[in-house]
Amino acid sequence: MRIAIAGGGLGGLTLARILHRHGIDAVVYEREASRSARPQGGSLDLHPESGQQALAAAGLAARFQSQARPEGEEHRILDPSGRTLVHHRPQPGSFSGRPEIDRSALRDLLLDSLPGDTVAWRHRLAAATPRPGGGWELTFHDGRRTGCDILVGADGARSVVRPLLTDVELSAVAILVELGIEDVDRRHPELAELVGPGNLWCIGVRQILAAQRLGDGSLRVGISLRAEDRSVDTYRSKRGLLDLFGAWDPRLTALIEAGDGAPAPRLIEAMPTGTHWTGRPGVTLLGDAAHLMPPVGEGANQAMLDAAELAGHLAANPADPDSAIRAYEEAMFTRIHPIAEMSERVQTMMLSPTAAEDIVRFFTPRRAEPASAD
Ligand SMILES: Cc1cc2nc3c(=O)[nH]c(=O)nc-3n(C[C@H](O)[C@H](O)[C@H](O)COP(=O)(O)OP(=O)(O)OC[C@H]3O[C@@H](n4cnc5c(N)ncnc54)[C@H](O)[C@@H]3O)c2cc1C
Repeated sequence: MRIAIAGGGLGGLTLARILHRHGIDAVVYEREASRSARPQGGSLDLHPESGQQALAAAGLAARFQSQARPEGEEHRILDPSGRTLVHHRPQPGSFSGRPEIDRSALRDLLLDSLPGDTVAWRHRLAAATPRPGGGWELTFHDGRRTGCDILVGADGARSVVRPLLTDVELSAVAILVELGIEDVDRRHPELAELVGPGNLWCIGVRQILAAQRLGDGSLRVGISLRAEDRSVDTYRSKRGLLDLFGAWDPRLTALIEAGDGAPAPRLIEAMPTGTHWTGRPGVTLLGDAAHLMPPVGEGANQAMLDAAELAGHLAANPADPDSAIRAYEEAMFTRIHPIAEMSERVQTMMLSPTAAEDIVRFFTPRRAEPASAD
């Protein structure tokens, strides 16, 4: 059985690793030129019931713990005047929660766990066509071709494999503008202090200014705005962004001023909640290719759990991979539906006029309800 995985992100690599542990070979076709071709972005918190569970199935739990940053769970929420609304501090040294790890460290951990020839770099999948006797003919952007029996689309938000199974369209949910600040302790100690060891969210009306500390001593700044307000191109200059935050405390907008280089805006999209498809032999999807959701902390965790579950089904039923895929898909659709609904709700809440009160309520543990009289 020749398994091809399109996409060497967190989902695709987790799948390859767990299959490898079960003695099943797979090739990961990745469009990037090498592991360091592109910065991998910010830090992620891995949840015990999904991302961490997948890493345990991959035999990488101990390595994860040695690289994760439990202190990165610290979370501060401020209003535009700089007043603290929520300050969540994790238990010192605790691994019971959702420790943060830089995306690049997590991806390296997975890459290092695979045989050297598992990832075929510089292979951007352009098309997959069914072969007459079953399986798929894969064509890459430079004209190279190969075949496989099973194709797994782990190729992210704009998946090339997805249209083989569903014709859903993406819709815009927000604009995210990103900036980086290197070497923050030395160059901007006041910003290091403001953000702390984890995450900071400053919540205004229909706009959020957030920052996150990474393991390499840099800050990643992210500004979330409504997609319908303006086009992405209007957010390419710091001046334009600062105008949007004109009434905010300058201690907060210093995060924009200090950004190294020009702001990088992008459209954040999502698939319709409840997307599912009728199975087709020899092909499936995982991660963002299967269920692109607003980015509120679940996407990578669910991509990794998809990978663990798909690998488990394929390993348990190697003689009938199509049945294994169907079992994976049915369970995945059921698992993802409420998570996608929650992600949509939280995303809407974050950019609503009452975001600050709603988010504080969301983060404040409820008091126990009084016992019912009957
Ligand atoms: C700003 C932001 C913050 C986020 N924060 C969190 C968080 O805190 N926690 C969390 O759980 N999730 C978070 N997410 C979501 C998370 O990033 C994704 O859900 C996750 O990366 C999905 O993993 P994946 O492997 O499915 O796809 P990706 O990580 O997108 O990987 C896809 C891979 O496929 C490759 N590829 C694409 N097209 C092709 C092609 N045609 N041929 C070959 N290769 C291809 C890409 O280069 C990439 O390596 C966030 C998302 C965003 C945008």
